[in-house]
Amino acid sequence: MRTWVKNAIREINADFQRSADTHLIKLGLPATPGIDLYLKDESTHPTGSLKHRLARSLFLYGLCNGHIQENTTIIEASSGSTAVSEAYFARLLGLKFIAVMPASTACRKIDEVRFYGGECHFVDHGSQIYAEAERLALESQGHYMDQFTFAERATDWRGNNNIADSIFSQMQSERHAIPRYVVMSAGTGGTSATLGRYIRYQGYDTELVVVDPEHSVFYDSFMQQDRTLTSAKGSAIEGIGRPRVEPSFMPSVIDRMIKVPDLASMATLRWLEKRLGRPVGGSTGTNVWGALQLAKEMHERQEEGSIVTVLCDRGERYIDTYHNDEWVASHLGNIADWENQLG
Ligand SMILES: *Cc1c(COP(=O)(O)O)cnc(C)c1O
Repeated sequence: MRTWVKNAIREINADFQRSADTHLIKLGLPATPGIDLYLKDESTHPTGSLKHRLARSLFLYGLCNGHIQENTTIIEASSGSTAVSEAYFARLLGLKFIAVMPASTACRKIDEVRFYGGECHFVDHGSQIYAEAERLALESQGHYMDQFTFAERATDWRGNNNIADSIFSQMQSERHAIPRYVVMSAGTGGTSATLGRYIRYQGYDTELVVVDPEHSVFYDSFMQQDRTLTSAKGSAIEGIGRPRVEPSFMPSVIDRMIKVPDLASMATLRWLEKRLGRPVGGSTGTNVWGALQLAKEMHERQEEGSIVTVLCDRGERYIDTYHNDEWVASHLGNIADWENQLG
């Protein structure tokens, strides 16, 4: 038993050793010349999103805690990037993987999970995924990874090349090496928890700003200091914004939150595509919209400095939705006014 776990951990570490760190992209902002914007490009991980880091951490956490052993079936409640990344690591270790997802999940995502050898188990409504994942784990004596609970504690926030450590070391030679702001959105809340804890641990003056889309409860929960809030409607921006305050969301390490309209996120996606030469996912639009608002504020205060945010995933998965004008017009409305604001 111990030998298998030892080998499994070695496999994950060897995979890490073969991987390169992700780029930090610098974007000039002509409208606010004293301010540099940086994008931590998490789309270049093998499974295409920042969830690659989370999946690696959750597997190591499960292995080192004795929850994952030879032949343990891995179960997760996720219709998105987490399922894809966990399927990758399950296959690396030769473990069976089942993603519990709503029947309405986009075909592209189902295909991605299956591409890495994962199975998809469908429920009628999004709200059923947690209980069904728990039930399946009990029935198969498997392990429910439970990203929404464990994201915050599975990551070593002090360093060890987590996303925060990597960002601050990649900033070292920049003219404004210590960012004024780091901007991130929240799905599990795990990434913002890591960023906020790391900033405090290192004693930086950087402020952590969390952006939140429409129909998510994180913003209201932060402002009202109430974790019991819920929202009836789900977020339209995949990967971020939740109808309940997830256990991994840590408001105490967040300095400020900004609510971002969905159309503002969509307009920013188009603005970004022109500057990067490639499409990116919806949450990146939300992040960059927030960063641009902060750049404007800094400019008005005649401050110079840097802002870092995260490019969370690739746009190819959203060509039929966020990058399709008809889809945006019929699902979210008219983006022209928002595009004009970006110039
Ligand atoms: C999960 C996710 C996020 C948010 O990250 P968390 O660490 O879960 O808060 C943002 N964008 C995308 C595309 C994601 O999949």
